[in-house]
Amino acid sequence: ETIGQNLRRTVQRFPDREAVVAPFQGYRATYRQFWEQVSLVAQGLIARGVKKGDRVGIWSPNRYEWVLVQYASARVGAILVNVNPAYRLHELEHVLKQSGTSFLITAKGFRQANYVEMVREAVQRCPLHRETLVIDEEWRELLEEGRRAGAGALAERERTLDPDDAINIQYTSGTTGFPKGATLSHHNILNNGFFIGEALRYSEQDRVCIPVPLYHCFGMVLANLAITTHGGCMVYPGESFDPGTVLRTVEQERCTALYGVPTMFIAELEHPDFAKTDFRTLRTGIMAGSPCPVEVMKKVQSAMHMPEVTICYGMTETSPVSAQSAVDDPLEKRVSTVGRVHPHVEVKIVDPSTGRVVPRGVTGELCTRGYSVMLGYWEDPHSTRQAIDAGRWMHTGDLATLDEEGYVNIVGRIKDMVLRGGENVYPREVEEYLYTKAEVADVQVIGVPDIKYGEELMAWVKLRPGATATAEELRAFCKGKIATYKIPRYWKFVDTFPMTVTGKVQKFKMREQAIAELG
Ligand code: ATP
Ligand code: MG
Repeated sequence: ETIGQNLRRTVQRFPDREAVVAPFQGYRATYRQFWEQVSLVAQGLIARGVKKGDRVGIWSPNRYEWVLVQYASARVGAILVNVNPAYRLHELEHVLKQSGTSFLITAKGFRQANYVEMVREAVQRCPLHRETLVIDEEWRELLEEGRRAGAGALAERERTLDPDDAINIQYTSGTTGFPKGATLSHHNILNNGFFIGEALRYSEQDRVCIPVPLYHCFGMVLANLAITTHGGCMVYPGESFDPGTVLRTVEQERCTALYGVPTMFIAELEHPDFAKTDFRTLRTGIMAGSPCPVEVMKKVQSAMHMPEVTICYGMTETSPVSAQSAVDDPLEKRVSTVGRVHPHVEVKIVDPSTGRVVPRGVTGELCTRGYSVMLGYWEDPHSTRQAIDAGRWMHTGDLATLDEEGYVNIVGRIKDMVLRGGENVYPREVEEYLYTKAEVADVQVIGVPDIKYGEELMAWVKLRPGATATAEELRAFCKGKIATYKIPRYWKFVDTFPMTVTGKVQKFKMREQAIAELG
């Protein structure tokens, strides 16, 4: 079925349950109201000339209008282009051009940036661009046009849609370089959202706090689609991530689930309001996007009252989730692995140099195949061929192991692996060990070039507020506990890491900076 058909079923089952809440905008809607508004937006888009297959861009921070656009554009058969709110002129222009966006929906601004001004400048150089709609100025008008246009054209349009149509271009996070546009179908992301919700045992009783960005699959699939396929409620705490607001929203909206990348959970755990927040309504949630430190998982599970917290592993190109822990997996598995492979997804672990499947327990590149693999990178057949082989296997670029019981363990990215004096070092392992030191709030380990060893390890350490530790102390903490070749040679104390807007640490930027500093 299409995303629109699926939403219609949910609306019929739970018309009076809350669907969307955005307290910071004073917005609440039941499924019935949500459906009505999605329909008006969809009708408005058709009235403004949006055709099937047109690229409709959305460049806006998290707001309730975002989710209306997500479902409306799916119902008109447009291809929604998710534009990262942190982008600035150059990146915006690249994405609009690359995707051939003709209709752009934007908001006035975010983090001091004037979107409208940047859009005006960028679109002059985008030949396919036709129209820009500014939410803050024209939203009411769009709904009004939709109302006047009536339901006829939308119904007609919906009859022409196919679940295998491209519905979405999602750009990857840009953690390892320039973002690539993964083209996804209804079938890809709707099913993935459904299985994610199944794994979390979602029902119409669930209320999910969503501080993760909507433009990213974490927001639009793991959150929105997982929830609307089960009749739960999407709760948006704010335009951008703020730990204090998240804590307050969880309590006030009686959320049953909370999402975040590890750095978000860390910020919440460290927040001064943490101790006075009532987490008793929480049950489950998802930590994903980057390696989830065991220590953080354990704290979230106990101190935040999330006994059923799960980890997901995936990538934009695979809709995104390929593996997820089950809510009743043994604690030890939930904190140490990314769970088991999702239903209807195949996984194999291969030796990246030979392509041969490695024995269980041996590290290799994780490849996936199944309904969730993207249609391809938008207008980039070369990159598509590099990522998806002739047998339809997606090569993820991630190193992983598969244990006897089918649990997947992500070891790290091939690109982040450090080769020091002939030994492979997985930064993740060193980071996990350093996390166990009380003074360490966050730590990232990278490889930097070295004449003698090829590469040397460098740790960037963020200390807990008020805590002190020297490089000597940290080195001593490692000595005798991890192999000598894994002990970082360089230590750098920092307050922040270079990050994507999703909160993913961009190690390639750390490496660039470190190389410049080391000379
Ligand atoms: P780009 O492809 O542009 O460099 P990206 O790979 O970070 O950016 P995403 O598609 O958002 O873009 O992220 C997918 C990647 O995130 C995976 O390939 C993997 O490296 C990492 N990842 C996702 N989930 C986990 C997890 N649970 N544990 C460890 N790593 C994870
Ligand atoms: Mg990637």
